[in-house]
Amino acid sequence: MKGRVPWVRNPPRDIFCGMTENQAHWREHPLDGKLLRFDRTTGINQLIESTRTQTLVQRAPRFLHVALTNDCNKSCTFCYRPLDAPSLWCFDELIALAHWAAEWGVLEMTFGGGEPLVFPRFSELLRAIWERTPICPSFTTNGLLLSSEFLGAIQGFYGQLQLSVYDDEQPLEKIELLVREKARFGLNVLVTPRRLRTLEVDLLRWYGLGVRDVLLLSYKGDDASMHLSQRQDAQLTASVQRLRTRFGPGLSFKVDVCWRQRLAGLPQLLDRDDCDAGDAFLSISSDKRAGPCSFHHERVAFANLDDIPAIYQRFRQERSAAHQRGCAR
Ligand code: SF4
Repeated sequence: MKGRVPWVRNPPRDIFCGMTENQAHWREHPLDGKLLRFDRTTGINQLIESTRTQTLVQRAPRFLHVALTNDCNKSCTFCYRPLDAPSLWCFDELIALAHWAAEWGVLEMTFGGGEPLVFPRFSELLRAIWERTPICPSFTTNGLLLSSEFLGAIQGFYGQLQLSVYDDEQPLEKIELLVREKARFGLNVLVTPRRLRTLEVDLLRWYGLGVRDVLLLSYKGDDASMHLSQRQDAQLTASVQRLRTRFGPGLSFKVDVCWRQRLAGLPQLLDRDDCDAGDAFLSISSDKRAGPCSFHHERVAFANLDDIPAIYQRFRQERSAAHQRGCAR
């Protein structure tokens, strides 16, 4: 074995304590010339590159991003979801999708929308996927419907909850709830010029409440006032570097894949040259179309799940940019 690089998706969780290599429940995911191993219980990844992995070929994305529903209980002005798209998924079809995706080689399904918590029986869905398939289900939420009851019902049956933080929101009560209920969570913070003004102070405050995992998101869309200028990119980089120096590994920072080239000096969500849309991840919409990412103009309808691998292979080859302003490709 030439190289074996363990890394963790998120900061260590309680569950890491005392766990040995043999106790991990690895799933293997072939990449081109490498092998990725992932344990959904701990979130630990291992990348193996050796003479034995040289002939491996990637045949499936690691992540399926699934828009469960197009319904939402918020009305953000900058929302990018296609408002006219119907919500076609039902509970049983999503279970079937998870079984099918596991067979294909997918490791994780990440649910968004719309707002996934407005999807009927969402906690049951997470639990069923965890118990009946080897897929790791995770989700992104605006947090409005989070409760102790919901978090108790999903405890142990999901990989990660990402709480979206938009505009000038201060999600203090939601963070306190997540910490109190020992949720595995991180923040998805949309960084606009307005947020940038308070970002360092906000992050210090959220850290004080127990936040340990932050993903900084760029705005994609036509509203020029929401995009950062070059000077603001530099300010953001300096802010994050100051915070990283202060907190070290105690606070995990990543910037989203669409900021890859512009903020190259900061830790990236995926450790590659491209954003990997339509490669490491594939987006499935609420109206059963496949696209490279959720911002992408191209969405291909599929009649059967077995149509998806051919669509995926085309996206992998083409690596096309999204028309949305803010796309890094
Ligand atoms: S294709 Fe563009 S918008 Fe989509 S993930 Fe990649 S960089 Fe972001």
